[in-house]
Amino acid sequence: MPLRHLFVDMNAFFASVEQQHDATLRDRPVAVIPTDAPTTACIAASYEAKAFGVKTGTPVWAARKLCPRIVFKVADHRRYVTMHNRVVEAVNRVLPIDSVRSIDEVAIRLTGAERAPAAAKRAGEAIKRAIRELCGACMRCSIGAGPNALLAKVAADMRKPDGLTILADPDLPVALYRLPLTDFPGVGPRMERRLKLYGIFTTEQFCQAPMRVLSDVWGSKVMGERWFRVLRGEDVPDAPTRRQTVGHSHVLPPDLRTGAGAFGVLMRMVHKAAARLRKMNYWCGAISVGATFLGTERGDSDWWGDGTRVPRCRDTPALVTAATQLWERRPRDHGAPFKVGTVLSDLVPARSATPSLFEEDRQAEEISDAMDDVNAEFGASVIHLGAMWGMQDAAPTRIAFTQIPDFDRRVN
Ligand SMILES: [Mg+2]
Repeated sequence: MPLRHLFVDMNAFFASVEQQHDATLRDRPVAVIPTDAPTTACIAASYEAKAFGVKTGTPVWAARKLCPRIVFKVADHRRYVTMHNRVVEAVNRVLPIDSVRSIDEVAIRLTGAERAPAAAKRAGEAIKRAIRELCGACMRCSIGAGPNALLAKVAADMRKPDGLTILADPDLPVALYRLPLTDFPGVGPRMERRLKLYGIFTTEQFCQAPMRVLSDVWGSKVMGERWFRVLRGEDVPDAPTRRQTVGHSHVLPPDLRTGAGAFGVLMRMVHKAAARLRKMNYWCGAISVGATFLGTERGDSDWWGDGTRVPRCRDTPALVTAATQLWERRPRDHGAPFKVGTVLSDLVPARSATPSLFEEDRQAEEISDAMDDVNAEFGASVIHLGAMWGMQDAAPTRIAFTQIPDFDRRVN
């Protein structure tokens, strides 16, 4: 199986951003918390804190007990989004990003000569260098290459921090066999129990299980076949997922980098997003808008975003009204607008609003917020395309930000 995918996963992203930002935090145990409250839990931990057993989800009191010298930092999403954009830029300098998977993960598709293991290794090293140069020495990443997206992610997870793992033939099966079942995204404790129920206790057994057995384990022929093929290194396209958000963003052509021009393009983005929502037959319960403004210093830019809940809707006028009100709240002391975007979230299918589907994972909420910010930002890679076009064409249809449920939402 040829190498087809490269996966870049930033290490302890939020905590590393804090250490990069504040030199006094470097080499020290740091945990990022959503709010400054004694009842909250860590959403990220630096490697120095991990060494004491602190991890995502550790309550603050427990973290303090494990590591009395730990420094808590309240999450600064804006700072994380800015760094995310820098990471995206750094990676894009080496190879074009295929998709942004989360605030700290990006995926690349390898083509042609890039698929040789030695070339993939060189690309991985070049990406690490580019990130170090553009983002700072604290911003380390683990990179994996594999024959499909899932195995590339598994490869990236194999060595942390600062790993670079190429999962290629002929070592592929043996390298996989060493892993516990739960190292596969999509195999949590519940699936692991089910696998054991069917006599699959090791990854070797998992990799050799017949399709029929995997279908029984997952209770789905489609999923069984998917896993069967994924484990053999086939390039299986992403499974259709429950959609989380619909968003559009666009870089303004130079002549539209004014308040009025930005507003016009934003309205077009809202229309497009609303149209997509209707086409998907979903309703939304929240809208956010965002913009990037050119900063005064070279290469520096300011990001602004704001959001509001709306009564469940999918009609353009209601969303245009909400977006207009949000836009009115934008800061006026920034530079010229450079990019605008909107994200519709809290989506429910028009027909069946099954409550269980919308149980919110409270702890993941802060992380989701940050990801929604990224959604609004997503599209940076098409800057050059968009900027050449006039406003009527100012929004080429592009692949939307999607999320693979199998890929968990950890940020570490
Ligand atoms: Mg990470």
